[in-house]
Amino acid sequence: MKNAVVTGGGSGIGLAVAQRLRADGMHVATIDIASSDDEFAHTADVTDRAAVEAAFAAIRSQLGPVTVLVNAAGQEKFKRFADLKFEDWQRIIDVNLNGVFHCIQTVLPDMVEAGWGRIVNISSSSTHSGQPFMSSYVAAKSAVNGLTKSLALEYGPSGITVNAVPPGFIDTPMLRKSEERGYLAVQQSIDSTPVRRIGRPEDIAAACAFLVSEEAGYITGQILGVNGGRNT
Ligand code: NAD
Repeated sequence: MKNAVVTGGGSGIGLAVAQRLRADGMHVATIDIASSDDEFAHTADVTDRAAVEAAFAAIRSQLGPVTVLVNAAGQEKFKRFADLKFEDWQRIIDVNLNGVFHCIQTVLPDMVEAGWGRIVNISSSSTHSGQPFMSSYVAAKSAVNGLTKSLALEYGPSGITVNAVPPGFIDTPMLRKSEERGYLAVQQSIDSTPVRRIGRPEDIAAACAFLVSEEAGYITGQILGVNGGRNT
């Protein structure tokens, strides 16, 4: 039995990934800023290194060493670049990029010790071509893709694969909130998506389930778009 941690596991994509990995037979703990009564749900802000380390310590004492990590915690920001305060920029970089840094650095010793590991970073299809009013988010997610490629090279010899999944438009609370605020036209996005539907969190979970599986061991450093054929 493998032990997995999914960040952002309280909602949307992270929740679907946690459910899928459990269905596939893994022990799964989640880390989310939102609290939950679930005994395997740990509350931490991924930007807070001490809180991340405490959460992983608690998970290790619950489950044992962790050799699968899916980084799905994320936060969007819609603002015209000129109106973006530096604090806005910093928070978005902190959650979407630095949070990934903290979680990977904290879990790596378990994977190196085991000589086996799987890391999947959820980035964004907006990194393919950019997205107006989302500069901080797209910058952070693009950096996550770059981090993914570098770590794949660095840790391949240790038996650890590192891949990214940039989702297209996925029906989650984050997306619906953006739609409610008038930032996204969901029907228009569906119309310009080759497969003509919105993505489901389960579509992303299926890709993650494959990438963390034993049989995906020869796949690393890849950016696997799950976007219905639409590269934003
Ligand atoms: P969501 O808002 O439903 O879920 C995100 C989860 O992350 C929430 O449970 C939230 O509490 C948690 N979170 C946010 N900030 C955190 C922090 N600082 N520390 C710990 N947890 C934190 O959103 P989602 O759509 O499921 O997004 C999941 C991931 O997919 C995100 O990284 C997002 O950027 C990415 N993504 C989503 C879409 C989409 O269309 N939904 C598209 C591209 C990328």
